[in-house]
Amino acid sequence: MTPAAAVPAGHGPGRAPAAAPAELLRRLRTRHAVDPVTHVERVPARAGTPASWPEWVPEELRAALGRRGVVAPWRHQAEAAELAYAGRHVVVATGTASGKSLAYQLPALATLLADPRATVLYLAPTKALAADQLRAVAGLELDGVRPACHDGDTPRAERDWIRQHSRFVLTNPDMLHHGILPGHAHWSGFLRRLAYVIVDECHTYRGVFGSHVAHVLRRLRRQCAKYGRTPGGPTFVLASATSGDPATAAGRLTGLPVTAVTEDASPRGGVTFALWEPPLLPAEPTTSAGPSSVPPPSSAPSAVSSSTSAPASSSTSAPASSSTSVPASSSVSVPASPSALPPGGADLTQVRRSALRETADLLADTVAAGVRTLAFVRSRKGAEVVATAARRALDEAVPGLGGRVAAYRAGYLREERRELERALLHGDLLGLASTNALELGVDLVGLDAVLICGWPGTRASLWQQAGRAGRSGDEALAVLVARDDPLDTYLVHHPEALFGRPVEATVLDPANPYVLAPQLACAAAEAPLTPPDLELFGEGAKEAVDELVAAGALRQRPTGWYWRHRERPEVDLRGEGGAPVCVVEASTGRLLGTVDGGSAHFLIHPGAVYLHQGVSYVVDQLDLADGCALVHAEEPDWSTHARDVTSLSVVSVRSYVDAGPVGLFLGEVDVTSQVVSYQRRRIASGEVIDTRPLDLPARELRTVAVWFTLSPQSLALAGVEPADVPGALHAAEHAAIGLLPLMATCDRWDIGGLSTALHPDTEAPTVFVYDGHPGGAGFAERAYRTAAEWLRATRDAIAECGCEAGCPSCVQSPKCGNGNNPLSKPDAVRVLDVVLANLPSDRPPQQPGPADAPDARLEGGR
Ligand SMILES: [Zn+2]
Ligand SMILES: [Zn+2]
Repeated sequence: MTPAAAVPAGHGPGRAPAAAPAELLRRLRTRHAVDPVTHVERVPARAGTPASWPEWVPEELRAALGRRGVVAPWRHQAEAAELAYAGRHVVVATGTASGKSLAYQLPALATLLADPRATVLYLAPTKALAADQLRAVAGLELDGVRPACHDGDTPRAERDWIRQHSRFVLTNPDMLHHGILPGHAHWSGFLRRLAYVIVDECHTYRGVFGSHVAHVLRRLRRQCAKYGRTPGGPTFVLASATSGDPATAAGRLTGLPVTAVTEDASPRGGVTFALWEPPLLPAEPTTSAGPSSVPPPSSAPSAVSSSTSAPASSSTSAPASSSTSVPASSSVSVPASPSALPPGGADLTQVRRSALRETADLLADTVAAGVRTLAFVRSRKGAEVVATAARRALDEAVPGLGGRVAAYRAGYLREERRELERALLHGDLLGLASTNALELGVDLVGLDAVLICGWPGTRASLWQQAGRAGRSGDEALAVLVARDDPLDTYLVHHPEALFGRPVEATVLDPANPYVLAPQLACAAAEAPLTPPDLELFGEGAKEAVDELVAAGALRQRPTGWYWRHRERPEVDLRGEGGAPVCVVEASTGRLLGTVDGGSAHFLIHPGAVYLHQGVSYVVDQLDLADGCALVHAEEPDWSTHARDVTSLSVVSVRSYVDAGPVGLFLGEVDVTSQVVSYQRRRIASGEVIDTRPLDLPARELRTVAVWFTLSPQSLALAGVEPADVPGALHAAEHAAIGLLPLMATCDRWDIGGLSTALHPDTEAPTVFVYDGHPGGAGFAERAYRTAAEWLRATRDAIAECGCEAGCPSCVQSPKCGNGNNPLSKPDAVRVLDVVLANLPSDRPPQQPGPADAPDARLEGGR
């Protein structure tokens, strides 16, 4: 645990000069016998390509921007601005800090200055971002623009003024949904003159939430068409993080044809980016003492092996919350020394040295070398483990040096956090372990090194974190340390997936009937629906309206469909179906947050450890009838992991590919799952303490799944023995779930799976992967459309893993409902080889409807 890098001689309280990144990396990678670096990417400094001001930008605006230091736009900004000004809907999808805001500010503000009546609506996913943007626009001090935030915190008196006088209104989708659209009559003047709708950070509108927002935007377009002066309605300008196929995602979000601008022409500092895979620990000789890390087989029927359905993120927060609900550290172990590893049974698989331990060592090394370093860790507990271990290692080397490393917690007050940031910027502090880039102040940039412990989920997050490194003119170091996880493993061995063109796309599914029906009810409550409206809301709208009529929510009249009730429909954009369950601190009665009904069984069952804003609670009681869980603050040194039993039946087939012995399908399924028990595992070691039974009712989920089938003959030909088929399919299913986030911005907690050697509805060996959200969220559909690419990556991730019989880096899953049993790694590769050999490599056709399903038995699987 002594830092490998030498402590600089005469190391004083000041900051030692940082070594050049390449030299620093050379020293770091000598730490292990096997070189842990799988790839080094030199991200060169980029000079930036400026463009001239579009001629329509008035002098007043140029001068105002000039006072802010903007002398000319970068080329991508000018290009997007020109398109928008010409009335084309446009999405600008470029890197963090590439200045996307200028791309929409130029056309929007130029129009406001040229036309004293025009208005602009700006949407941000969070109030904080809207407030930042307000400061930026207000700071330009342009006459007559009168920008203003209109959100839940805006006092009522101010709202009237904003409606009547502001020409640049900043709000969020929730406020648009709950406030502005239902009150459209009051906003008619604003909507009549609406020239631009700006959708900032539009990649955050994904999954079920994104599908809701898509319809809120359609409702907005409907009201604009009703009041508006221009037949085409306002021009949409969207800003997105880099992602695969941003034009398609933006088109789905708005329902409009959108042009994408993706060539980033802004300048950036050079970064040496290393991909780091902690070494496999030597396989432990079997010492039967100590608890087994292999959990007992579950009570599920052995022919059907399942992963749990998805505990989705809690309804109150953004995607990142899924890592708080289930500690990201759950799949890694932090042995104090190799001998402290859970010994397990004779068949126990190898594990890699934990990413947390590895990051702690790297942090100690860089700090010892006098390099100001920020380490990103996914969980708060993990951040503390990293900081503590690094401090200890440094103190062993040079007593007192450990004091220059700290952990940065969400629980800290804002001032305390800013103080830590200041200390790091000035070099009083040399190392900081933090959970999330977004919590950090915007000024904390220009560090010498950034360590990223585990794939942060998306490229956008990766670059947000790496972007904290590097000052102008100075080279910086970034290191991505892989966790024991199939996706992390794949990425450190496939740098082209990180540094090449992004393949992960923002997906949403506006046709989800669980989203469409309530949104149509909202629309009808705002104004009766007419046949042209149904076209606006797209596929499935007519069916949804008919069902609303049958359910008594709408009344059909010759002029359209009318909302029948006095009250408006209650629709939560972030809701998941099923009433949210409140999490209440028993001793104080304080409401900590809500968890959507679909996730409650997984996240807040009795005994569950529940994390809320970095603070740990233990659930005393879950009252499903009252929709309430009682908890108390407690920080045990274990995490909890719910286990479930799942069955699945096929309802209908939407689309399929007949590939001889292999079939690929997309369709609706009913998933029945019951959380039956939970494991307690030590946070530090991952060791299973015990498994405790739970008494919770079974739940039904109708959702969308992708599945593939193989003929038993093709499996036999490939050398998969009948007895090994369940383990082969199960292993393939786990890895496929782990790799799907490569294709779509989801995480494995959004998806569930099930594999079986014989499924009654397909009558064949089958692997199902399904959306863990009622009605689907677009993930399974994206998997179907990119099946060849997705399963190729899955196959490679398994085949290239250095372990012998399967490990968490390839085929084991931290959320397996069956305790990762059975699993056969080599046979999983054979299974996927059969699939890939038969599957056409081009993308499947769009829509052979259900009527063309290859086999009638797939219908009505119930
Ligand atoms: Zn492995
Ligand atoms: Zn499983």
